[in-house]
Amino acid sequence: MPEFRLDCATGQVVLMAPEREAREGGLGEPLDPRRHCPFCPGSEALTPHEVAARRPPGSPANAPDWQVRVFANRYPAVAAPPEETRDTPAPPGPAQPTVPGWGWHEVVVETRHHPLGLADLPVEEIRWVLEIWRARLCALRDLGNDPRQPRCEWVQVFKNSGPKAGASQPHAHSQIFGLPFVPAGPAAEYDQAADRGPGTTSPLPLDETLCLLQTEHYRASCPRVSRFMYEVHLHPLRPECQFAQEPLAQLFELAALLRRVLQALNSTANTPDYNLILHTAPLHRMVRGWRWRLEILPRLYSWGGLELGSGLVVNPLLPEQACHRLRANLSLER
Ligand SMILES: [Zn+2]
Repeated sequence: MPEFRLDCATGQVVLMAPEREAREGGLGEPLDPRRHCPFCPGSEALTPHEVAARRPPGSPANAPDWQVRVFANRYPAVAAPPEETRDTPAPPGPAQPTVPGWGWHEVVVETRHHPLGLADLPVEEIRWVLEIWRARLCALRDLGNDPRQPRCEWVQVFKNSGPKAGASQPHAHSQIFGLPFVPAGPAAEYDQAADRGPGTTSPLPLDETLCLLQTEHYRASCPRVSRFMYEVHLHPLRPECQFAQEPLAQLFELAALLRRVLQALNSTANTPDYNLILHTAPLHRMVRGWRWRLEILPRLYSWGGLELGSGLVVNPLLPEQACHRLRANLSLER
């Protein structure tokens, strides 16, 4: 059973997830090349039952003709809360420093085609992925309408692409991670935005970002305070804190922007491993003055002792220079 444990000396919460030790490739060992990929079409029996999918009309659940498929993570970092749990679990605190690791952990297989990365997919297929992320956010939010279930309060969607980014499976996939409470780091960010107040917040922190590319409704930019080389954030231009509220009709535009940025990154930094993280507001709370964002974090080098010991992140590339190089490769595309 997973557990959240609070280190009362530092305030750090650690999620103990012993189930994950069993996953193949999860500890960095090479995968057996003869093994059958559990995410490929035809391997549906190797995964838990699907909870959502994009399929041709009439195709039954778990049949192999899916286009995007979502199921519970077989090696979850958190355990699904028992259905009879009526009280939403609290985060660990000084009074109770260890609490059960309840939550929701799902896998989204992004394409049927094993060798393709997200950036290789047509825009329409990237849109399908964004659409299913949005649908799962709505579904987890609506769990709160059932009084027999604990509420899912906060969700992070993320993607680990490549082993340096923590991926244990090479087949393109992302993950959906929901919790019955808001973790301290994001909670502090929302509170800070709320403290600034809606009247004092500019629509976008223009002075803190370098615009890479802007479309009708979205902007891709390099933060002036980037933790990673070639870090890029995608934001909506209007102040929307909930990705679940994003108009479906705009997701094609967002998919096209994401694809262009990922392809420029691949050209600039030799197809790096990367993490993609969707930060969106707590499911049942509006955070005024804050907007959702999609972070692309290339993993070109590992953090060392300086970062781990001091908490100071060292970025060897100025974001201004990163933005300039990425822009040059964007301009080479059609
Ligand atoms: Zn596969």
